[in-house]
Amino acid sequence: MADNQTKRVVVAIDGPAGAGKSTIARRLAQRLGFTYIDTGAMYRAVALWALRQGVRFDDLHRMEQLAMAATIELAPGRIRLNGEDASDAIRTPEVSSGASQIAVIPGVRRAMVGKQREIGERSSVVMEGRDIGTVVFPNAAVKIYLDADIEERVRRRLEEERAKGSTVNAGALAEQMKERDRRDSTRADAPLAQAPDATYLNSTGMSLDEVEEAILKIVRARVTNGKEYQKESEARSQKSE
Ligand code: C5P
Repeated sequence: MADNQTKRVVVAIDGPAGAGKSTIARRLAQRLGFTYIDTGAMYRAVALWALRQGVRFDDLHRMEQLAMAATIELAPGRIRLNGEDASDAIRTPEVSSGASQIAVIPGVRRAMVGKQREIGERSSVVMEGRDIGTVVFPNAAVKIYLDADIEERVRRRLEEERAKGSTVNAGALAEQMKERDRRDSTRADAPLAQAPDATYLNSTGMSLDEVEEAILKIVRARVTNGKEYQKESEARSQKSE
């Protein structure tokens, strides 16, 4: 038990929408044998529930209640909300925008961060989002800030949308992404930001394989000598003092 805990590793990947975090985090988790956690999907699930219940995104109290009451189960690429598979339902533009609106609410963030820390306490994880290296796991062994130029991020998202059969146009998508990035970066509570000790990686023009290899190199350099495991366990013992 103690040995397992000592070896638990958190790889935190933060960055704006469309930077490639989900794809890379999923691949890395598979390579490392870690659990992949898409924290954006969790905010999306709460927004979806609110839409279904007719709860307004600016109703802070009700939104916090929903976030606390939501049962969210994650598997690679899949999510269950209150027992129901919501993997496709959370990927609509309405839910994307809703997620970033409810993500400004401190009570909603507290509930999500609590769930995320619980998962990270159980096993080694590759966790991706906006505040993983800054707030959720400030002592993570590896922190990556994954970025890409806005044109590239829009192009990638557009490809994903078209593959799903959506006819959204590039201009509208760019506007939605910019608005979401603006809201995510300027909110008062846990805004999207690069942690001071994170490695910045701009993936524009890089292939998925190249990005994966670049991050794997950083992971191997940081976690093979045991120092980072120590850092995590020191943080835990400080917390329990
Ligand atoms: O990553 P994804 O685009 O699915 O995230 C949806 C929204 O959830 C983001 O725009 C952001 O507002 C919010 N989010 C967050 N903190 C995280 C992950 C996502 O605020 N750790």
